[in-house]
Amino acid sequence: MQLECKTVYLLLGSNLGDRRTIINAAVELIARQIGPIILRSSWYETAAWGNEDQPSFLNIAIAISTNKAPAELLTETLAIEETLGRIRKDRWGARLIDIDIILYGDEIIDLAGRLQVPHPRMQDRRFVLEPLAEIAGTVVHPILQRNILTLLSSLNDNLAVTKLI
Ligand code: AMP
Repeated sequence: MQLECKTVYLLLGSNLGDRRTIINAAVELIARQIGPIILRSSWYETAAWGNEDQPSFLNIAIAISTNKAPAELLTETLAIEETLGRIRKDRWGARLIDIDIILYGDEIIDLAGRLQVPHPRMQDRRFVLEPLAEIAGTVVHPILQRNILTLLSSLNDNLAVTKLI
């Protein structure tokens, strides 16, 4: 059965190595293996969250169109992280590439803790909401029933997130 296409928002981040090249490579793999890129935010530089002793992150948000089911989408994003040689020492440690599934259409998904969408912490994180607001400001969070710009305006996260030009 062919699923209908969904608009999916992903957040990509890297804080190791040549961060732009790694993120660009991830975007190419996503376009090839998951579905076409519809929108792409600017680059954002973010102080590391959780563990401030590590290098800062570069983040972008993208919107893609895909007919992959949620579980398959997660398998693909994890495979792309693997392909790009993710190094994972501890939960908040440095990483070559991190791909988070932020929104999957307007669906609410919980696959036994393996996948939760909307991403359960998206509304608390400036490094998610700033790039997302650039490409999805009027998109409504299906649980909170508020749009991304509204979530950003009521955010209580002082972590510096700088849009790069
Ligand atoms: P992290 O790299 O810390 O973001 O955690 C990755 C793990 O979180 C994955 O192996 C997934 O099983 C799980 N996970 C749960 N919800 C999500 C989501 N919305 N996007 C990405 N990973 C998720």
